[in-house]
Amino acid sequence: MIEISREPKLRPEDSSKYQELRKKMVNEQIRSRGIVNPLVLAAMERVPRHRFVDESLEGSAYDDTPLSIGESQTISQPYIVACMSADLELKGGEKVLEIGAGSGYQAAVLSEIAAKVYTIEINENLTIEVSRRLKKLGYLNVTIRFGDGYKGLPEQAPFDGIMVTAAPDHIPQPLIDQLKVGGSMVIPVGGGETQELFKVTKLSDGSIKKKSRIPVRFVPMIGKAEKKD
Ligand code: SAH
Repeated sequence: MIEISREPKLRPEDSSKYQELRKKMVNEQIRSRGIVNPLVLAAMERVPRHRFVDESLEGSAYDDTPLSIGESQTISQPYIVACMSADLELKGGEKVLEIGAGSGYQAAVLSEIAAKVYTIEINENLTIEVSRRLKKLGYLNVTIRFGDGYKGLPEQAPFDGIMVTAAPDHIPQPLIDQLKVGGSMVIPVGGGETQELFKVTKLSDGSIKKKSRIPVRFVPMIGKAEKKD
């Protein structure tokens, strides 16, 4: 008689080697730098970052550095992903919007915490690639839209949180409009090579409170963001 093993097969992204590297990344690059939000730490321990980069870069996926994802775009350093995710102050169950899907890594991290993530990508090749990748990895609560994220996604608004991962030179008004009162938006702002990361909170009178966080380096937001309102 043939014995059929009931043990679940490890998926390649769950191999113990990569699990160990993820634990190390979380402890040495994130927790040690003061990020203690348990939901963010757990999400980053789970998401297989090496599956979001080209195979040739898999070995560097858990290094303390940003990585190229093709099309002249980059996936942020793990610490920056953690900082920005923690700043959204999600408790679980929220509806979140991301601008700049890129590799889909940040969206995957958010989707481990939130109930639903919408992410908008302006580059068509990346949109196709990221849709395939997220589906294959089983991130079924992420919806990817091809288009200009400057305008947000009015038909799904309002959002509990908005995460912007390409830098405009000002905070897009449509994104403020689509943020729930009491919700947070995390956004790099600035026209130069480096920008300032802001945490923006929407107040009950519709105005915003801005808190400057850290200097960051993101690619510029293109599309409507390049033109003045
Ligand atoms: N969050 C991504 C990294 C973002 S890189 C990740 O986790 O991998 C920045 C991305 O923003 C790029 O893919 C770029 O094509 C996209 N982008 C730039 N301007 C945009 C816009 N106006 N709307 C949507 N996406 C935009």
